Amino acid sequence: MNITVENSVSILNARWEGTNPEALIDNISIDSRSLQNSEHSLFFALSGPNNDAHHYIKDLIAIGVQNFVVTRIPDDCAAKANFLIVENTLVALQQFAAYYRGRFHFPIIGLTGSNGKTIVKEWLNFLLSPDYNVIRSPKSYNSQVGVPLSVVAINEKHNLGIFEAGISTVNEMDKLEKIIKPNIGVLTNIGSSHDEGFIDLEQKIQQKMQLFKDAAVLIYPKSSAIEKYINPNTKAFSWSFKEEDADVFVSKREISHQETVLVFQYKGSSYELKIPFVDKASVENAVSCLLVMLHFGYDVEVIQARMELLFPVEMRLEVKNGINNCTVIDDSYSSDYQSLKIALDVLESQNKFHKKTVILSDIFQSGFPNEQLYAKVAKLIVSNKINRVIGIGETISDFKEQFSNCITFKNTADFIANFEKLDFSNESILIKGARSFHFEEIVTLLEEKTHETVLEINLNAISYNLNFFKSKLQPKVKIMVMVKAFGYGNGGLEIAKLLEHHKVDYLGVAFADEGISLKNGGIKLPIMVLNPESTSFPAIIQYGLEPEIYSLKGLHAFLKIAKQKNLQHFPIHIKVDTGMHRLGFEENTVDELIATLKGNSTVKVQSILSHMATSDDVNHHEFALSQIRLFEKLSSKIIRELEINPIRHILNTSGISNFPDSQYDMVRLGIGLYGVSNDAEEQKELENVGTLKSIISQIRTIPAGDSVGYGRRFMAEKATKVATIPIGYADGIRRAWGNGVGFVTIKDQKAPILGSVCMDMLMVDVSEIDCLEGDDVIIFGESPSVSYMANQLQTIPYEILTSISQRVKRVFYR
Ligand SMILES: *Cc1c(COP(=O)(O)O)cnc(C)c1O
Repeated sequence: MNITVENSVSILNARWEGTNPEALIDNISIDSRSLQNSEHSLFFALSGPNNDAHHYIKDLIAIGVQNFVVTRIPDDCAAKANFLIVENTLVALQQFAAYYRGRFHFPIIGLTGSNGKTIVKEWLNFLLSPDYNVIRSPKSYNSQVGVPLSVVAINEKHNLGIFEAGISTVNEMDKLEKIIKPNIGVLTNIGSSHDEGFIDLEQKIQQKMQLFKDAAVLIYPKSSAIEKYINPNTKAFSWSFKEEDADVFVSKREISHQETVLVFQYKGSSYELKIPFVDKASVENAVSCLLVMLHFGYDVEVIQARMELLFPVEMRLEVKNGINNCTVIDDSYSSDYQSLKIALDVLESQNKFHKKTVILSDIFQSGFPNEQLYAKVAKLIVSNKINRVIGIGETISDFKEQFSNCITFKNTADFIANFEKLDFSNESILIKGARSFHFEEIVTLLEEKTHETVLEINLNAISYNLNFFKSKLQPKVKIMVMVKAFGYGNGGLEIAKLLEHHKVDYLGVAFADEGISLKNGGIKLPIMVLNPESTSFPAIIQYGLEPEIYSLKGLHAFLKIAKQKNLQHFPIHIKVDTGMHRLGFEENTVDELIATLKGNSTVKVQSILSHMATSDDVNHHEFALSQIRLFEKLSSKIIRELEINPIRHILNTSGISNFPDSQYDMVRLGIGLYGVSNDAEEQKELENVGTLKSIISQIRTIPAGDSVGYGRRFMAEKATKVATIPIGYADGIRRAWGNGVGFVTIKDQKAPILGSVCMDMLMVDVSEIDCLEGDDVIIFGESPSVSYMANQLQTIPYEILTSISQRVKRVFYR
């Protein structure tokens, strides 16, 4: 870095008290546990609502840290280190980063957008790194803290920067802009969801565009809403799937269920390229990358060759259970010095085992001569107290002596051949390698094999779907999410926690017990209970749940208990029956309902609701409208006569999509959150949430004439390779899914079910599939989808999802 404490004092406009103003700074830290803290670190003592890093300064001095940016000098610390005293340490960190950024003059790409920032960044790194020494934000470091930390990692060997910026409210982007100062801007997209932090979409766009105020060029999806905010000095470089006058007009053609061909018109010519994705988000992200490459002047042949190799980005540093009681940290898709530092911190934070092993590939893109690079890496390894290094690759093998206790292999195959001899047990193992080394094969070897069927729940997909439906809501309309029946089979508490994080307004459950287990799990959101039995009223009150009251009998029973407990204004929800004829006050009981509640202060009508019978069915559109009209009439009457101002709500998922004018004050989102729509077009917009997975227990080949399973319901007409999967109707797979109706997916290929589904197992035809015992099997997920399955079985996705038995373990991931 070549910055002294004295320089820093003037950069930060700080007041200095301390020991040695000439001390050199070579790195920045904010994490007191980071082992990279050393005599040359400048530690910024940030303070948040729950944590104040000033408390750790004394301990840091004890381990040799010498330089601190603080708002005050902690007790007993004066004269023991250098203190740079500022008003606000976060602002100081940002000032420092902005100053540091100013010392470099190579191109910097600044990325923002509602989705896809990290993926586009990782892809650009992959696409451009053959020609540049790229510095990029690690992981998703895109916040007010993450951006400055990313930028201070620049060094003089880099010649291209890629940094992402994320904001959640106003006046944040201008701060990030000052730090990143991008020359090339990329706006991935603007989601239409109305975020908490912005008044409206307009403001969101205007704020995000701040990042590009001095950029020479901006790459963006063509839209007048964006163009309004492009600075006249910035060259606009747009793409579009719809507008032919975009600079790059793209059309797409799915050529298999994994590949898309993009045909693009650029400067009067037409070109094609292939990418290994079909989903909308990946295709859009790839187009953003295409424009960056065009801007850099790459030949189309190079673009085609590189883009064909794009890969899914795993942004999570995954911590997994390993064989022989090990813990495995999987970071098997990148290897650069900066991300190694972060991965080592994660390894440290595991601190479950004393023994630590790092499996490391050759390191790329440092820009330093190898000699120097591996010396730096070795230093990092020592300071992190790593017991064993396993190096894989030609270069790291050449620098083996730099490390103590290091074994090396020329390539991954070599390592795998020697795997049995290496003895991994009771230790934490970090697996860190560039993509080209295929370390995922090592992860597979080290991962504990769980011989069980799991339902994997993608929490990001849930967030995505939530935002999709939120984007359909008018401003101020609240959202209740139905998490009844164990979150439609997907897992109640975990999903409720995620929804709480996303600040939905209400949760809805069917029974009191479901609500109680959420409250016991720490959920603070208000929870409405759809079908409270009178016996559960005391528990409802005790746990602060809110009952739906749907009859005079229920109302009187509740009032009785509530009065005994001297409650005041306890929230209740009044359900009126408008045609579903399931639960609810009928029209002719509404007068008595009003009379009972008039002047009553024991309860408060928190909301009035009704439920639609046909919101998903165009053939019954008229009936649905009649329900809405009756709801309007009954709810208005109650409101008028009781002179109250409750929340009104009638729409479920398909109601949100089909009756946008009847959102009232709140909607009740259910199945849509879990990635299922009753509308085929809308289905394409949602992300798959649950993937039911199993493995192959056994494979055998049977000759023509033999049969498979109970009742010999499958007879082989030719020699058939049969795989047995440990999942059956007791797990919720309908028997009707067997006998030629259904299939599972193995290695991306369909394997039809042979004969009848058994209680705990089923058999499939894998004659055409190159597979082995132990291989993964997808029962449902992307394909077959739950909707497809439901269709074939003449049922609805709700039934398939909620039938998955509780013996199937749910695993959540982001
Ligand atoms: C289940 C339920 C919903 C949600 O329905 P979806 O079709 O899953 O969106 C809404 N309201 C009530 C009363 C429900 O029972």
